[in-house]
Amino acid sequence: MPKRIVILGSTGSIGRQAMQVVDEFPGEFEVVGLAAGSNMDLLAEQIAKHRPKYAAAGSREAAVKLGALIKDDRLPVMYGDSGLESLAGMDGLDLVLVAVSGIKGLRPTIAALERGTAVALANKETLVTAGDLVVKKARERKTRILPVDSEHSAIFQCFEERNSAAVEKLLLTASGGPFLKCSATELDKVKPAQALRHPRWRMGAKITIDSAGLVNKGLEVIEAHWLYDMPYEKIEVLIHPQSIIHSMVQYADGSVLAQCSLPDMRLPIQYAFFYPERRKNSFPRVDFSEVGELTFMKPDQERFPGLGLAYEAGKAGGTMPAVYNGANEKAVELFLAEKIKFSSIPAVIENVMKKHRPLQEYGLEEILEIDRWSRLAAVEAVY
Ligand code: NDP
Ligand code: MG
Repeated sequence: MPKRIVILGSTGSIGRQAMQVVDEFPGEFEVVGLAAGSNMDLLAEQIAKHRPKYAAAGSREAAVKLGALIKDDRLPVMYGDSGLESLAGMDGLDLVLVAVSGIKGLRPTIAALERGTAVALANKETLVTAGDLVVKKARERKTRILPVDSEHSAIFQCFEERNSAAVEKLLLTASGGPFLKCSATELDKVKPAQALRHPRWRMGAKITIDSAGLVNKGLEVIEAHWLYDMPYEKIEVLIHPQSIIHSMVQYADGSVLAQCSLPDMRLPIQYAFFYPERRKNSFPRVDFSEVGELTFMKPDQERFPGLGLAYEAGKAGGTMPAVYNGANEKAVELFLAEKIKFSSIPAVIENVMKKHRPLQEYGLEEILEIDRWSRLAAVEAVY
């Protein structure tokens, strides 16, 4: 029986690579639903090829455009947040890949888990903003969150359940991004086009900007805390510019397990799709003699204060990580629109965090409300 899957964000960087994984294994997957925001031409192509039963678009206008492109009255096209939620929460699915960007991944993730469907989670903002609720929901419905983010997939692959009490620390690796060697004054002058040029990974705009300022690693620290129930003191970030080791787990006996491969997101996507199996694929292999050397260094928290702020938000707990995330999402948007400097992104996050007193008890609606407040507060911090 093919696995019945839904892919949210199928036209994005992760979504397109997920479609390549589906193509790599003919007959193994039935694509039941696809969702994208505005790139209806590509979504229409994907629909023509995979013939899903349902589709969703980011807006009503996009849904109308899609309807005209596919000329198929039998395919129900939904739109907006409720479209994503309906697709994710359908009955009879084996897996939902959540590969939309930002907090809009949260509701559909919860909808899928609520149904007892396993979630392959690329969207990190979901765990950052509401990790507690999401992890509890998966436990309550006895289903799994399968990490797609490469670092968390690496940890997942190196984490020995039977020895979980003997885990000494998690070592999250980071490429360091395009500004690894830039001075603080150079960072001040960075333009969006430069920040969008990542040396190792081709990703969507939001995560690429996050990566350039180590905010992405900050989000991943919080993500790791929830996925592996690990205190922040035991999560360490290590710059590793070659991006061959995707993360490591250190045990009480001093042994360190690392997962290595070429930087290719199709691998963690495939691992999540077939978990717990490893299947043969035709993707390129790493040649260590060609890589030559693997190097490591500590992150520079002074030039990249966004990382330290994530630890602060995580340790404050409750709703503070949602504020870190919401302020960052807005700040990245303002930077891409050339309204603020690159170095103002962490300054905006810090400003908004200072104004928030975290609630330790919260539900989904509080998180969404705090997210809206954080975005407004981020704009106020600028103007
Ligand atoms: P992209 O920006 O490339 O893709 C986002 C996808 O979401 C697109 O398909 C987009 O559609 C779709 N989308 C946007 N708005 C809506 C909406 N309202 N309804 C339905 N679909 C929508 O992002 P990435 O693929 O880079 O990242 C996705 C997530 O995965 C992020 O949370 C990121 O942090 C995480 N991630 C990404 C990695 C990567 O290598 N790219 C690595 C690890 C994690 P459209 O393009 O049509 O507008
Ligand atoms: Mg990552």
